[in-house]
Amino acid sequence: MTTPVTIVGAGLGGLTLARVLHVHGIASTVYEAEPSAQARTQGGQLDIHEHNGQRALEAARLTDEFHAIIHEGAEATRALDPHGTVLLDEADDGTGRRPEVLRGELRRILIESLPTGTVQWGKKVSAASPGRITFTDGSTVATNLLVGADGAWSKVRPLLSDVKPEYVGTVFVETYLYDVDARHPATAAAVGRGSMFALTPGQGSSRTGRRATSCIRTSN
Ligand SMILES: Cc1cc2nc3c(=O)[nH]c(=O)nc-3n(C[C@H](O)[C@H](O)[C@H](O)COP(=O)(O)OP(=O)(O)OC[C@H]3O[C@@H](n4cnc5c(N)ncnc54)[C@H](O)[C@@H]3O)c2cc1C
Repeated sequence: MTTPVTIVGAGLGGLTLARVLHVHGIASTVYEAEPSAQARTQGGQLDIHEHNGQRALEAARLTDEFHAIIHEGAEATRALDPHGTVLLDEADDGTGRRPEVLRGELRRILIESLPTGTVQWGKKVSAASPGRITFTDGSTVATNLLVGADGAWSKVRPLLSDVKPEYVGTVFVETYLYDVDARHPATAAAVGRGSMFALTPGQGSSRTGRRATSCIRTSN
């Protein structure tokens, strides 16, 4: 089988490319390792900036859909010192120009904008060679144009580069508090409407976002 454009990975990059190609009348097929669109919670909030994310969504002709999923108020930012003293408290007054959306919602509007069958789920690439990719189920696909959008551990990148991801000494821990207003009101009050950053003793920092990510970063 040969497809005009083959994209590996249905993350935000691969899906945005497929959508932009589609609006220009170019068909593509996206092969994604996850078994379905609902297989995994995609993570927390992303701020979508004017100079990159919003331009990509404009090129994808999805600006209205993007506006519909913006988490109003989530651009509010608060920074605390290790003792909980508020160092910075900025409200979301609508002028931040980097609205926050849930990654899963952004992925959903991209998936819904593509013709049925564009994304082939449960197709994990195990190897890529010029003109052909192989999946873990043993099947193969021939392709004239291959795009690797399969994340940090890309199986496609080695065709172009020997560079491999390496540990840079920062640990990122992501946790969630569900129904935070009712079950963890003190945390909800400390975080506020948007993101809260806290300096921790030593060199680390943490970021906590309403409806989104709670995470701790520690640098050694
Ligand atoms: C914690 C964190 C916070 C971030 N916050 C922001 C933000 O606020 N704003 C912003 O603009 N950006 C943010 N980013 C960056 C943003 O997430 C990335 O730029 C974006 O996800 C890259 O998209 P991608 O499609 O290239 O890769 P990914 O999103 O990593 O998607 C890769 C896809 O490929 C699939 N895949 C992997 N291996 C295979 C394989 N072998 N075969 C088939 N499929 C495979 C994966 O399942 C996945 O669906 C953040 C990143 C992180 C980690």
